[in-house]
Amino acid sequence: MPDWITHIAVAYILCTLLGIRYKQFNTANTVLVLVGAVIPDAVKVGMIFDLFGFGIWEYIWPLHLPIGSLITTTIIALLFKEKKSAFLFLLLGVATHFGLDLLLKNVAGGIILFYPFYWGSWQLGLVATDDYIITIISLVLALVAYLISRRYGKFKDKNEDVN
Ligand SMILES: [Zn+2]
Repeated sequence: MPDWITHIAVAYILCTLLGIRYKQFNTANTVLVLVGAVIPDAVKVGMIFDLFGFGIWEYIWPLHLPIGSLITTTIIALLFKEKKSAFLFLLLGVATHFGLDLLLKNVAGGIILFYPFYWGSWQLGLVATDDYIITIISLVLALVAYLISRRYGKFKDKNEDVN
């Protein structure tokens, strides 16, 4: 299940619904959360290297651990003027990613959440990795969240448009 589409859709749903109430979840910060939601899967760049015959998985697998994602998030946040804010929104996206990944029934074991302090892995085993019904449901819910925000949101970027 949690492919990039699902990760992005769920992060979008969260930000869109929070954006109705909190103006901090404007479009720019929502994009940061969406980017954060796929940061752990930066590890999948290994698939590109596989095409060219280079096996780099052993070197990059920590990217898909909370500690690796935290380091990646910190590096990306340094590129922004408002580093702390960017870091927190990216981190929220990363949290949604691991929240979804924990739902998976993973044949390779779960997520080593507390590496390097503890090597135990966790998974809830609720959803098969190839279950695309969740993807479809998340897309439908994202559309519903969008429609709700258009109806009840106070057009959260109104102030930005004026400036
Ligand atoms: Zn993942």
